[in-house]
Amino acid sequence: MIPVRSFANRQVAVFGLARSGLASVCALKAGGADVFAWDEKEELRAAAAAEGATVMPWQNWSWDKIAALVLSPGVPLTHPRPHDVVVKAKEVGVEVIGDIELFAREIHPDPAAPGRAPVIAITGTNGKSTTTVLIGHILSACGFDAQAGGNIGKSALGLAPSGLKTIYVLEVSSYQIDLSPGLRPDVAILSNITPDHIDRHGSLENYAAVKTRLLKQTVKRGLNVVGVDDPHGAAIFTKLTSNGGAPCVPVSVGKVLGRGVFVLDGVLYDAQSERATKVMDLKAVEHLPGAHNWQNAALAYAATKPYVKDARAIAAAIASFPGLAHRIEDVGRVGKVRFVNDSKATNADATERALVCFPDIFWIAGGKPKEGGITPLAPHFSRVRKAYLIGEAANAFAATLEGKVAYEISGTLESATASAAADAAQSPAPAPVVLLSPACASFDQFRDFEQRGDAFRSFVAKLAATPVREAS
Ligand code: ADP
Repeated sequence: MIPVRSFANRQVAVFGLARSGLASVCALKAGGADVFAWDEKEELRAAAAAEGATVMPWQNWSWDKIAALVLSPGVPLTHPRPHDVVVKAKEVGVEVIGDIELFAREIHPDPAAPGRAPVIAITGTNGKSTTTVLIGHILSACGFDAQAGGNIGKSALGLAPSGLKTIYVLEVSSYQIDLSPGLRPDVAILSNITPDHIDRHGSLENYAAVKTRLLKQTVKRGLNVVGVDDPHGAAIFTKLTSNGGAPCVPVSVGKVLGRGVFVLDGVLYDAQSERATKVMDLKAVEHLPGAHNWQNAALAYAATKPYVKDARAIAAAIASFPGLAHRIEDVGRVGKVRFVNDSKATNADATERALVCFPDIFWIAGGKPKEGGITPLAPHFSRVRKAYLIGEAANAFAATLEGKVAYEISGTLESATASAAADAAQSPAPAPVVLLSPACASFDQFRDFEQRGDAFRSFVAKLAATPVREAS
């Protein structure tokens, strides 16, 4: 844990006490602050009290003495409308910040100071977690003390204090950027921008503007790494190269770049200097399947190159990446049927990445729907042998599939898994895949995407114990 000393002997309020909120309470207490805390959930309040916070409803806090409000990124700051606690803080002139801002003030009070631990910050619509964990893996393999976390795994303040060879690698969601004006990354990565979470940002333009803000905060002698394959990423790259900020490396999968890092036919090239040199063939990397993962690998390569001079060492580390749970993760095989858990695919764009990886798919989809549903996936419907629809989105998805793809409304994930497994086993396809890639949030039926993926894994394990019959 990183003690936060910047609020020693002052009162700080923490609102929202899940993972990052609770870590803020601990870090602030350890740094000598007097912490007030509140969350609507009783068990979270109890956890904060056990860490020494004074737990009371925010309406009862002594607002005239509070130096800052630390807001959970899950609580609306601006859209669809600010939470009442935010309105109150603004009214009385209390600054509203997040856990990553506390981290930044502790680790980076002066970005120009020599010897401070570098921070690599990763944002974008998709690929953040994979890229974050991959960068951590590369840096560890190359001898650094990589402390990776933020929006994935440990929260920023839960990471270890910095030592000689520490590099912090932080996944930063757009909500966290809003709350972290003082984060000055040494390297900032923008993977891509597609519509998601628009409800919380008002518009796609605002969402893109928030992401851009992080890259504008990069220290001048640092580096920005930008995926330029979507129109927003390309426009942001152009804007950043002309604003006099940190240098910017473009990254593309499919386009040859005169200067930058790119992937062509699965081969990663570094063209940051005069000529393009081949780094590695990503097609051979088992745990980074699909072109979207080639983008993640290329981003990770560009971000670690300033620290690891030998490109071959980075290539070797990418090749040994063990992969991430819930992202096109193999969770078992029964006879010829392969089961793939892509529970993290909570929007159509992420699901598209999985659909293009396999030819004969028995597709489990649905949950709490996102705007646009699965209509954008129509070009890939020819790969789907049958769809098994679950959750709130089932009827809407059925309407999109009508006349194009066979489907059934399975209702629950367990029933969908059983039906898909039986149909896949009976199908003439030589290598059928039962794919859970919901294109939806999980909250209608599960606590989160992890619980949904774990449930799928356990249903597959049960099926493996009682094998289904294959067609002869
Ligand atoms: P995030 O943390 O941004 O949500 P993850 O690495 O957890 O990203 O991946 C989330 C989902 O998005 C996965 O289902 C994966 O298949 C898909 N995905 C991963 N990387 C990319 C990418 N670079 N572009 C588009 N989709 C991606």
